[in-house]
Amino acid sequence: MNGSNDTAESVRDVIVVGSGVGGLSAAVYAARADLEPLVLEGPEPGGQLTLTTDVENYLGFPEGVGGMELIQRGKEQAERFGAEFRHGTVERATLDERPFELELSSGDVLRTRALIVATGASARWVGAENEDELMGYGLSTCATCDGAFHRGDDVLVIGGGDSAMEEALFLAKFADSVTIVHRRDELRASEVMARRARDHEKIEFRWNTELLEIHGSQAEGVTGATLVSHPDGHPTEKLESDREVEREEVAVGGIFYGVGHVPNTDFLADTAVELEESGHLRTLEGRTTETAVAGVFGAGDVMDPEYRQAITAAGTGSMAALDAEAWLDERAAAESQSETAAEIPADD
Ligand code: NAP
Repeated sequence: MNGSNDTAESVRDVIVVGSGVGGLSAAVYAARADLEPLVLEGPEPGGQLTLTTDVENYLGFPEGVGGMELIQRGKEQAERFGAEFRHGTVERATLDERPFELELSSGDVLRTRALIVATGASARWVGAENEDELMGYGLSTCATCDGAFHRGDDVLVIGGGDSAMEEALFLAKFADSVTIVHRRDELRASEVMARRARDHEKIEFRWNTELLEIHGSQAEGVTGATLVSHPDGHPTEKLESDREVEREEVAVGGIFYGVGHVPNTDFLADTAVELEESGHLRTLEGRTTETAVAGVFGAGDVMDPEYRQAITAAGTGSMAALDAEAWLDERAAAESQSETAAEIPADD
């Protein structure tokens, strides 16, 4: 434990907010450093991995590993070294005083010397009928995770940005055909990504079209979809009022959402932690996990709009814990030095 005037009962050395792979990795490292971290499991315990089936690209699992299993094993690993878990969603963070204070939606207030933000990013969902039931059963938000299960399938990708193009290009390695379904007739994607998708022989586009309903079941997976289209775009907004909206049922074996991710940083809005325009946590130039507030570190997808892989989240999680440990040590050393200086009588 690091030296401090705060009581050990009421103030933690480290709180990790988020229990996805980034938060768990931070917890394992912090626990092994005897920092007895508290991990807060928020509204999506386990994070995005719990939404996928088999993870085949995580190092060390040649046969693949279930997303849920990987998270469960990570939690057990962190607990083995002394990490504590509790449910709690942080509503507000006060970071301009030390120790930091976190107010939970339950009203409880937690205090910590160092904070690791590993709240991840939640994939945006489009709101199609049956998406709750079929997510993870042929409906996915991650082509890199689930694309290989769709060898020989016809699949849909929803969205018109770079994520959708990237998902479609990845899926085209496995699927027989990939149809990008976009709600307007103009892509938001960068020209280079759009060109790659347009030039690919397996990829086609459905313009001014949206996904209304997904067909299938958890037993048989996704079997089809109801699409709606309108010549002016945004068809679902016109469903009730405009007869020009056309419905079509298509048979597909998989549907991928590529409509963006939303980093979970709302609770930091009134703090000095800086955010990117996209909402992602901004880390200091040349420093991977340090934020604009000393003692606050970022890990996983909440600070990474680029790679967004389980293995990279685990990597930044371990880095955040190591950075937090070093920061706590430095702070404890500085505090004990200033206490020693105060005890030595000044020379007259
Ligand atoms: P994005 O640029 O915000 O695009 C989201 C797309 O989804 C838009 O086309 C949007 O349609 C559509 N969409 C949003 N909500 C929808 C809904 N409810 N129903 C149907 N469609 C919906 O997000 P992104 O593609 O994830 O990209 C985010 C950032 O990451 C961008 O800066 C991007 O360049 C970057 N990125 C880069 C790469 C790369 O270069 N390799 C890869 C991925 C991401 P509208 O266009 O009509 O709004």
